[in-house]
This record gives sequence, structure tokens and C-alpha cells, in this order.
Amino acid sequence: MGDPDDMPVRKRPTITPKTRLRIFGRDNFKCTVCGASPALDTAVSLEIDHHVPFSLGGADEDGNYRTLCRRCNRGKGNDEVLNKAVDSDLLNWLSRVNPEILEAMARDGEAVAVANAEEFAEIQKLNRVFDGYEITLIPNTIIGFHAGYNLGIYTLEDNGGPKTNFRIAPRG
Ligand SMILES: [Zn+2]
Repeated sequence: MGDPDDMPVRKRPTITPKTRLRIFGRDNFKCTVCGASPALDTAVSLEIDHHVPFSLGGADEDGNYRTLCRRCNRGKGNDEVLNKAVDSDLLNWLSRVNPEILEAMARDGEAVAVANAEEFAEIQKLNRVFDGYEITLIPNTIIGFHAGYNLGIYTLEDNGGPKTNFRIAPRG
């Protein structure tokens, strides 16, 4: 047997925002075990799980990834460290607000969305938690109710307030 110091170190994977979007999109933004969806229940958070745990030799690739809700992922334990970073993440928040934003990001690589001041402040705050999304302000854009091409994340009640129009895309 070789010296343990000579063993190659297996680097813990980092799942990029782009990868997470791809897997969430592939799995239709639903938990692959119980079907829970943030679009239907605001308490649901989606996470990426290694089907065969990384710590047990599972591959770090799409075929071994699956979308789980936080509840189904608890108790598994092996991906706890990985998912700690994901828990309060912007993606989950955006999917609660409007899953179409994630769908557009997965499909087109970006989404144009509109938020009121409080929502945009939250987006900026959450965007610092994990490894970051590219957020570009689109200034001087007049947004009407149901403007058509924008993925509005405001409600009827918000309609009177000022809006921030922005483009959001995953990095990396
Ligand atoms: Zn579930």
C-alpha cells in the first residue's frame, strides 16, 4: 500500500450557478423525490444533490446530480457542506418569486426582469451570499403593467411604485 500522503486529493466540487440552473431546468424546477415546487409552495427550497454522494465516490457530473427539496435532502448529510452555500441563495428566492425567471435564464442564458425597490434590494443582498450572478441595470426603461417581454416580479399592489429593470445571468 502506498503512503497516504501520496494519494491524490479529491477536490470537493463547486457547483456553479450555471450548472444549478441547468439541473433545475432539466428537473422542471421540482424536487425529483416528492415533486415539491417553489412555484406552488413558497416554503420549498430547491437544492442540488449528488445522487451517489461525492464522499462515497459519486461522480461530479450532471448524470449524478438531481434536484431535491430541502426537506428531502435533510438527513442525507453527505452534501451538507455543499448545500450550506445554497440554502439562502438567490436562485431559490427568484424561483419563489417567479419560476419563469429561472426558466429564461436556463433557456436563454439570461433573463430580463423587473423588481420593485424592496425586491431589488433583496436580490442584491442575496447575490453576495454565494458566488454571484451578473446583474446589469437597464436604465430609463419604462415598464408598464404586463409589458409583455419582461418577467415582472411585482404584484398588482406594487404596480404604482418605482421599478428597477435589470438583466440577470449566471457567471461561470
Ligand atoms: Zn422533496
